Parts: sequence; C-alpha cells; structure tokens
Amino acid sequence: MVLTDDQKALQETARRFARERLLPDYQKREKLGVLDRALVKEMGDLGLLGIDLPEEYGGMGVDSVTTGIIAEELAYGDFNMSAVPVGISLNGAILVRHAQPEIKDTWLPRMVRGEAIIAICLTEPRGGSDASNLQLKARRDGDHYVLNGEKTSITFADRADGYVVFARTGTPEQGAKGVSAFFVPAGTKGLTTTKFDDLGSAIIGRGSVFFDDVRIPASHRLGDEGKGFTQVMQGFDYSRALIGLQCCGAAQASLDEAWQYTKERQAFGRPIGQFQGVTFPLSEGESWITAIRQLCLHTLALRDAGLPHVSEAAMCKWMGPRYAFDIIHQCILTLGHYGWTKDTPHQQRMRDVSGLEIGDGTAGIMKLIIAREHIGKAAIQY
Ligand SMILES: Cc1cc2nc3c(=O)[nH]c(=O)nc-3n(C[C@H](O)[C@H](O)[C@H](O)COP(=O)(O)OP(=O)(O)OC[C@H]3O[C@@H](n4cnc5c(N)ncnc54)[C@H](O)[C@@H]3O)c2cc1C
Repeated sequence: MVLTDDQKALQETARRFARERLLPDYQKREKLGVLDRALVKEMGDLGLLGIDLPEEYGGMGVDSVTTGIIAEELAYGDFNMSAVPVGISLNGAILVRHAQPEIKDTWLPRMVRGEAIIAICLTEPRGGSDASNLQLKARRDGDHYVLNGEKTSITFADRADGYVVFARTGTPEQGAKGVSAFFVPAGTKGLTTTKFDDLGSAIIGRGSVFFDDVRIPASHRLGDEGKGFTQVMQGFDYSRALIGLQCCGAAQASLDEAWQYTKERQAFGRPIGQFQGVTFPLSEGESWITAIRQLCLHTLALRDAGLPHVSEAAMCKWMGPRYAFDIIHQCILTLGHYGWTKDTPHQQRMRDVSGLEIGDGTAGIMKLIIAREHIGKAAIQY
C-alpha cells in the first residue's frame, strides 16, 4: 500500500516519538509496572490518541488505515504503550456510535487528551471464548440499572477511568440477544478491582472487576437493550487489525536490531551476516511481517470503504501475534547468548506479544470466525 503525504507526515511524528521517547525506556517502564500517565498525556498532546475520532471531540477524523500506521509505529517503541491508542480507538468508536451525547461530550475529549483510559469488560471467570454466554446481571430499576457479577482478565482493570461492560439484561436462554452494553465510570459505588501478576504487559495491567450492586443511570446503556452484543462487538473487527499492526511493530523492532547485529558480530573470521544460515531466517521474518502488515492495512482499507472485513480481521488477529512471537524468538537466537538475557528488549517483546495470542480472542476462535464466514452456521453447529 502506498501512503499519502498526510499519512507519511503522521507516521513520521509517531516514528520519532516512538524511537526517541518510548524505545529507550521500554524495559525500565515495564519493570516498574506503572502506567506513566504523563507519557500518555504527551501522546495526547502530540495528537497520537483518538486520531480517528471526530474533530468535535478533539480527534482528527483520520481513516482507519492511518490509525493503524500509527499503532505500528508506537509499538516499535513500546508494545504496551501502543495499547493505549488502540484501546482509545476501539472504545472511542464504540462510544461515538452507541453512547448518549452527555457521555460522548464528557469522555471522548478526555480520552483524546490522554486524560482518560477505558477498559472493555467482556470475559468472565467461567470463560471468554463463548463470549455471549455471560452471566454478569444488569437489572432495570426505574431509570437506573443495577449491575452484579464479576469480569476477569480485563486489561487496564485497576487503572481505568471508565469501563465498557457487557451484561445480561435478558434470560440465559436468549444468548447474545439478552446481552446489553453499559458505560460505568471508575469510582462508582460497589465497583472494585484486582491486579494479576502477568508474564508481560505489566504497565497496562490485567485483573478482575467486581460489580456489587453498582447503580448507573439508564442513559449509560450503550446501544439498544438486548442488542449490545451484536452492535458493540462489531468494534472488535477494528481492534483486531490494529493489534495485528502492533505485533508487526514489535517484530520489526527486533528484526532491525538483529540485522544490525549480523553486521557487527564476527564468527570464523567474518561477520555472521555472511552466513546464509543466519540471514535466511531473518529474511523469512521480514517476508511474514511484510505480508501481515499489508493484510492489516487492506483490512482497515475495507473498513474505511464500508466493505465486509470480518474474516480478514480475524486473520490479522491470529497471524499477527503468532508470527511476531516466532520472529522475535528467532531474533533472540540470532543474538546468541546476548539474546538470552533481560538486558535486551527481545524477551520482553516476546512475552508482551504472546498475551495477544489469547487477549481479544484466541487463534482457535479467530479460525472459527473465518470458517463461519465461509460456510456459515455449518461451522458451529455440532
Ligand atoms: C493479555 C490479555 C489481555 C486480555 N484483555 C481482555 C480485556 O481487556 N477484556 C476482556 O474482556 N478480556 C480480556 N482478555 C481475556 C481474553 O479475551 C480471553 O482469555 C479469551 O477470549 C479466551 O478465553 P479463556 O481464557 O476463558 O479461554 P477459554 O474460553 O476457556 O478457552 C480455553 C482454550 O480452548 C480453546 N477453545 C475454546 N472453545 C473453542 C472452540 N470452539 N474451538 C476451538 N478452540 C476453542 C481456546 O482457544 C483456548 O485455547 C485478555 C486476555 C489476555 C491474555
């Protein structure tokens, strides 16, 4: 895909910020395990957050392709920090489409400025793959809803400023048709959180969110009652392509560093880059990443054109983290014993991208979606 001049200019802004401000302290931030809110604010000041949201809310209204290009650039510097703009684009699109004006006017400008982070709460302790089979209950009480239950494995759980929550307003027998979505501000009485001790991505964190008689105005419902699942879940096709590009950014950073090493490291009296056993695996990595990047950009271009892209988005989501993981692993091997230390960023990147082999839906579920797009219900009826 050939980029426009505007896309190249925004890419350059994101690239400079990623390499100068994010990359040098990627591991230091991760060791601290704290989301640097001043850095998030800096991204907002540079216009890197919610860039795809309408101008009336502070965004630039750019297309999905441009948003994806920026996600990849930021992930090159820090995979975890790039989850912030991706989350803002996903949740921002949901709020723009389905929230009442009072919520949009209050929250969207804050998200774009880097002052508010929103978590998305779908998974429950009994499982995440069978997503519509959820139990967290939302009971209507006059002009309010009262939420009770638990969400788990939620990114940003203990550090979000607001939550998009999927809850059951109908009966279990209604399946997806009995599910509605809600917006719940952090600090609402009855809402508590925990934090998990994860393999990676500590700065964004993951944990459980408990709802104990959490009372919210009915105007906080997103979309129609009983239609939350189908309406709001459409946003995930967007985040799946963005996640694919985040993974390309992380893998590309490791590849670039590994190529450089092959020019400097000597063995048997010559640079190891002269051994094809060393360069060919990296050439294969470049090939995979180039192909996946183009698939992701194509998927986003389909979205921009209003064309179907469910199957393509699922492909981006399983291939991105899977091949990024393998490529980063190869880069560790290319660096020999230097690669097998926490002093290099590769092990951190490998752990971080592996989280998204599960988060936002596993590879198995993505392949099920692709199959369903091709043979319909025949792929899921047993
Ligand atoms: C880093 C990370 C971040 C996350 N962030 C969020 C978040 O912000 N919000 C949120 O709501 N959730 C989040 N999750 C949860 C994630 O979406 C779920 O973990 C995921 O959907 C899988 O659910 P599960 O872990 O309960 O696995 P299960 O549903 O129990 O599945 C277990 C295994 O069985 C396989 N499987 C199940 N059914 C099928 C099938 N029909 N065909 C083939 N294979 C199948 C799965 O692929 C998996 O390998 C996150 C998870 C991680 C790891």
